[in-house]
Amino acid sequence: MPPHAPRIVPPAPLGPSALPNVNPTPHATVADVADLLRDKRFAVLTGAGLSTDSGIPDYRGPDSAPRNPMTYQQFIGDDVFRRHYWARNHVGWRHMVAAHPNGGHRAVVDLESAGVLTGLITQNVDTLHQKAGSRNFIDLHGSYDRVICLTCKNVITREALDVRLTALNPNFRASLGNIGEIEIAPDGDAVIDATGHFRIANCELCDGLLKPDIVYFGETVPKAWVEVAYAMVDDADALLVAGSSLTVHSGLRFARYANKHGKPVVVINTGPTRADDLATIKLDAGTTPALTELAANLSQQ
Ligand SMILES: [Zn+2]
Repeated sequence: MPPHAPRIVPPAPLGPSALPNVNPTPHATVADVADLLRDKRFAVLTGAGLSTDSGIPDYRGPDSAPRNPMTYQQFIGDDVFRRHYWARNHVGWRHMVAAHPNGGHRAVVDLESAGVLTGLITQNVDTLHQKAGSRNFIDLHGSYDRVICLTCKNVITREALDVRLTALNPNFRASLGNIGEIEIAPDGDAVIDATGHFRIANCELCDGLLKPDIVYFGETVPKAWVEVAYAMVDDADALLVAGSSLTVHSGLRFARYANKHGKPVVVINTGPTRADDLATIKLDAGTTPALTELAANLSQQ
């Protein structure tokens, strides 16, 4: 166990009959959340809100600008769009490499080290949970650092593709000026223009189209990944949702599933979420301070 991990005694699982009757309230505190989760094992479901303190913007947070995320159909159906996408990704993905986990990610690691988590389901593709040291996790929407061939399904690292794209476009980055000031989005996209001359790369094995191994809007999460996530909820006495407004079904279904099976759902998020009506406790708070306090609080037993 890392020296910073709180000492939490893994509790015995409790059945649905132990579900307390706590109504969602705007006055909820981290202590209320800790009281509910104490002596339980729980799954954690995280979203973009967890990574905003690491400098990765949220698509849908209360402070973020409106965006039109790329759809899967655009990517596979439009050569110009695809070239534009890869040109932006060629710049943007390096921002993801440079990002560091924050206290929220570290608090999740502390909870796992203490043995109270059944697993971590993340909708983030930034790998920051992995960088922080989480071990039992599922990247529900994929990962920015992998690239998949849509034809033969071969997976390569984003770094390996970078070598090829850099060789094909030797002067592209230099032509952009200060890339540190270019806006980035959560999937490693970068908002730039002048991408019409960018040369993209296809699969080296079969010449098929390459796509970041990320689940885009309009695409379905692979069944095997979903089953791993459901198993984490099945093993849990409760579900903690942190930093997600659960706007898309792929995350919301786990909150509904837990609720349907009589398991308390705790939501920690800045602003409203689609699971507020089924949350046992809704805590309107930033995830970095809330999760840090929660991990510390659960260690005091
Ligand atoms: Zn291929």
